[in-house]
Order: sequence, then structure tokens, then C-alpha cells
Amino acid sequence: MGDPKGFLKIGRKPTPKRTIEERVQDYRYVYEPMPDDELKGQASRCMDCGVPFCNTGCPLGNLIPDWNDLVYKDHWKTAIDRLHKTNNFPEFTGMLCPAPCESACVLAINDDPVTIKEIELSIINHAFEEGWVVAHPPPPEKRTGKKVAVVGSGPAGLAAAQQLNWAGHTVVVFEKDDKIGGLLRYGIPDYKIEKWVVDRRIAMMEEEGVEFRTNAHVGENPTTEELKSEFDATILAIGALQGRDIDVPGRELGGIHLAMDYLTQQNRRVAGLPVNADPEISAKGKNVVILGGGDTSADCLGNSHREGCASVKVLTHGPKPPENPDHLTWPDWPLILHTYPVHEEGGERGWSVAVKGFSGSNGHVERMHAVRTERENGKTIPIEGTDFEIETDLVLLAIGFTGPVRDRLQEEMNLGYTDRGAIHSENGYATREPGVFVAGDAKRGASLIVWAIAEGRKAARQADEYLMGHSQLLG
Ligand SMILES: Cc1cc2nc3c(=O)[nH]c(=O)nc-3n(C[C@H](O)[C@H](O)[C@H](O)COP(=O)(O)OP(=O)(O)OC[C@H]3O[C@@H](n4cnc5c(N)ncnc54)[C@H](O)[C@@H]3O)c2cc1C
Ligand code: SF4
Repeated sequence: MGDPKGFLKIGRKPTPKRTIEERVQDYRYVYEPMPDDELKGQASRCMDCGVPFCNTGCPLGNLIPDWNDLVYKDHWKTAIDRLHKTNNFPEFTGMLCPAPCESACVLAINDDPVTIKEIELSIINHAFEEGWVVAHPPPPEKRTGKKVAVVGSGPAGLAAAQQLNWAGHTVVVFEKDDKIGGLLRYGIPDYKIEKWVVDRRIAMMEEEGVEFRTNAHVGENPTTEELKSEFDATILAIGALQGRDIDVPGRELGGIHLAMDYLTQQNRRVAGLPVNADPEISAKGKNVVILGGGDTSADCLGNSHREGCASVKVLTHGPKPPENPDHLTWPDWPLILHTYPVHEEGGERGWSVAVKGFSGSNGHVERMHAVRTERENGKTIPIEGTDFEIETDLVLLAIGFTGPVRDRLQEEMNLGYTDRGAIHSENGYATREPGVFVAGDAKRGASLIVWAIAEGRKAARQADEYLMGHSQLLG
């Protein structure tokens, strides 16, 4: 521990952000780097508490107290070596993770937690700036002669592919989209992660020997049979991209869309790529209603601001969560109102609203019909006589995901599903088909980047054991 009294002398400092006026004009990253001296002060707040709950709060088991100490002492190179031991892509988590580690920080019991996520991002940023992050192709004599297919190129697939390649297997990543990255590419907006950050890792993995095949919808091209005959093992990292829909009168009207359809189009526009979709969805000049309150909803909100919508409302079915927990929730993730930078940028948030239907003219939505709700015996029910209407010409449904898309690959693999619609697995990451493993959202249901990377690593280790009888990969 660098400074035994750091946590008594220094308070938590939030990560600096660009001004609202500036950032809503573009799609660049919202946050700004914290100067090194301030960051070292933040790292010194780590108490070296003895039982680091942060370490287990992090799904990757990141060695957080170690790197807090190393940053405080200016040992950045050792810090990145320690960080890369548990996390393939600290820049993804450093930018995107909601940091369950911080909820589990012992300092959070009666003070603000250490700024763990900010420190993680600074370590990897320093490492890239210094040229310490370089491709590590396995030496030719380590090549095993085994071939592994990774289906899906989101964070779970990328982590699994990198690990299996390092273990010496020949790895091919199949992606049905035209670009690699999964939700990092065509879901999460650039103002949360600029796409050159994703491209930089992909280029490094290619240099290491991983082969990427885009526009390759497994089940169609290649077929499931071709996949089975060409590869010794398969990792399914196909995400949980089937958006939940609603069945109410007027749902068929134009202008009502699943959120992911909008977000994909928007990311393509920002990247300067053809949208390739009919109808094109834009929030520009529209009165937007976003249904749902999670990450997807927040990303629709941020894009709507940046596109120049006329107005935007974010409405949720359930009651408003408390702004502060009324009891100690440590070390668990607190179920409180989470406010992201996009919520500071404008728009209205509303809770306890249920949709009854939509109406409009000429086949296009003009109104949402809604009713207030209340909680009774743990259920959300409508309150009679509280019906109201909202004028809208664009409705985005960000109300969750029901699991992996049930395509031909799913049908032919026939692996079974969990209650959350995810692919059934047994004994860790194995499926009932020998040699086929599953990781990330496809296994857990819609979740987080940090879980996707953690599961990609664990599935890779299990696949390596299956292929070789043992594994030296860290899970
Ligand atoms: C809008 C949005 C914002 C989010 N923001 C955050 C955030 O800020 N922080 C955070 O931690 N998490 C966030 N999440 C969650 C996070 O993005 C996911 O948990 C994570 O991306 C899951 O990774 P994955 O690799 O399992 O799947 P995905 O990233 O979904 O990737 C799966 C890939 O598989 C491909 N695929 C599917 N079927 C096939 C097939 N048959 N053949 C070939 N390819 C196929 C898909 O095209 C896709 O590219 C967000 C999610 C959404 C929807
Ligand atoms: S990956 Fe997420 S949970 Fe783990 S240390 Fe980083 S911010 Fe915390």
C-alpha cells in the first residue's frame, strides 16, 4: 500500500467529462483523462484492506489492490502486466464497465469507493502510449494442429479467440455482420467507445494469427455441417440480440421500432457506412419516446440528443428507484437510480407508466396511449382512471432481450434453452454437444462486457482442456 492514510486525506474525484454543450455536438468519447498526479492520489485511497472484496466484485477477478499500489508508485509497466493477466481488453471495460468492483470496495461501506475503473483505463492508456501493448503470436512450435471456430465477434468471442490462439490452436472467428466487434461495433455508441479502440485490438489479434471472417452467418454460410466437419471445437458467442417486443394495439404503425434497429443504423451512420436498412430510423426533429430504462435506453437517449430530436421522454414501467440505498447494500450492486452522462444532457425521465397502445394516421404513429402504474404485492398494475396520451412520432422499444436470435444455427444445433432464453450449458461452459461451448450473453442472457470477457476466457480454457486433456490458460 502506497499511502496508509491516503483514504483519510483524499476524497473521491469523479472522472472529468467534456461540457454538455460541447459533447452533444459530436460522437466523441464523453470523458476526459484525469491528470496523472490526481490519479495517483485516487489510487492512494486504496486501503489495502486485507480482504479485497473489489477483487471478487469484478467478474474477471482483476487484481485491483495490486495495480492501485503500482499506479501510486508510478510503476505503470508492471501495472499493465498485472492487469493483462486477468483482462484481455482493459480499454473496453475501462470505458464501459459499470464497475461492480466499486460497489464491493471496502471503502464504500462508509465513504466513496476508489475510482477503480478510471485507474484501469489510465493503466491501459499509458501502456498503449508507451508502446507496451504489442501482438504476441504463439511461436510456430506451439501450434497444436487443432482448429477452433468462434461464432460471434463480441467481447466474449474476442476474448475466447485470443486465449485459444495463445494456447496454439488455429482460430477462426465468424461474424454475420460486415464488421467485427458485436455490440461494441453496432450497439454501443461512439461517445461511449470510439470504434478505433475496437479496431486497434482486432488488428493486434490478426497480427497474432487469429483469422476473422465477416459476412459469415454460421448456419447459412458456412452451414452447421461445414462448421462441424472443419473444426475440432466451437465456441458459441452469438450474444442475446433478440429484442423484446410489445403486443398492443397500434404496434404495427410506422415509427415504432426495436431500439437495436435504431442503434445499429446510427452507429453505421456515425462510421460513414451505408445504413442498408428500410425504413431508415432517425430521431432528428422528432418527438421521441424511449420505453425502458437500461443501457440500451440510455444509448437511444444519447443518440437522440446528438441527432437533434425535438423532444425526448424515457419512460419505465416500474416505480422510480431510490436515489440512495436505504440500507447497506455493500458488497452487492445497489438497486438505485443510475444516472449516466446522457441523462444530464436533457430529456425527461418518467416512471410507473404502462403502454396501452398507439394511434396515428397514414400508417404512422402520432400518439402513445398510456396509464400510470403502481406496485401491489410485488406486481406492477395499472391505476384505473389515470389514462393519458403522449404525442410522439418515434417510439423506441428498449425493454430488454429475450436471448440469442433463434436462427438456423440454433435450430440445427438444438442445444436447449434456459429460463432466460439463453443457450443451455452444463458443467461450466460445455453444451450437450461434445466440443461445443457457449459464452457471454448467449450463455447468461443479456449482461455486461466484463462478464462476456470473463466467460470467453473460461470457455476458452474448457475448450483447450477438451482438445488437449489439460490447459495452462488462465480462466
Ligand atoms: C445498446 C447496448 C448498450 C450496452 N452498453 C453496455 C455498457 O455500457 N457496458 C457494459 O458492460 N455492457 C453494455 N451492454 C451489454 C454488452 O454489450 C453485452 O453484454 C456484450 O456485448 C455481450 O458480448 P457477447 O460477445 O456475448 O455478444 P455480442 O456483443 O452481442 O456479440 C455477438 C455477435 O455474434 C454475432 N452472431 C450471432 N449469431 C451469429 C451467427 N449465427 N453467425 C455469425 N455471427 C453471429 C452477432 O452478429 C454479434 O456480432 C450494452 C448492450 C446493449 C444492447
Ligand atoms: S472490469 Fe469492471 S468490475 Fe472489473 S475492475 Fe474493471 S471496472 Fe471493476
